[in-house]
Amino acid sequence: MKLSTANSYFSKYILLRDAIKQNNQYQAYEFVTCCTCGKIMSRFSKNSHAGHFISKGMGGSSGVYFDERNVNAQCHNCNKWLQGNGVEYFLFMQEKYGIAIIDELRRKHHLPRPHSIDEYGIMYREKYKELKKKYHLRK
Ligand SMILES: [Zn+2]
Repeated sequence: MKLSTANSYFSKYILLRDAIKQNNQYQAYEFVTCCTCGKIMSRFSKNSHAGHFISKGMGGSSGVYFDERNVNAQCHNCNKWLQGNGVEYFLFMQEKYGIAIIDELRRKHHLPRPHSIDEYGIMYREKYKELKKKYHLRK
């Protein structure tokens, strides 16, 4: 499986996870809030991304690339043009997880990924499917 395919399943899962967590059940869990600017967007929109707190390193790899704690619903503007919106993202992470988890993610960033791309792809394809089923969603 290609990294982009695995990442697409992972992103869909993250956006649905955040839509459910943000409790927008009246719109069939369609909407997510950007973790760094608060913009509300459809999880099906091209503007909604699964944005990384710690992005891929210089070598193109990170031990936390597929760590669910490291990835949250984020708008295209914050993710691409503001390069993750670092300061705001740090504040969000501090509030959501606390500094101990941030330190753990920073350490694990330098370690090899615990699973292969194929394993992540299959895992998140299934997790996405299960989450949709649990909440009776067609998409
Ligand atoms: Zn944003």
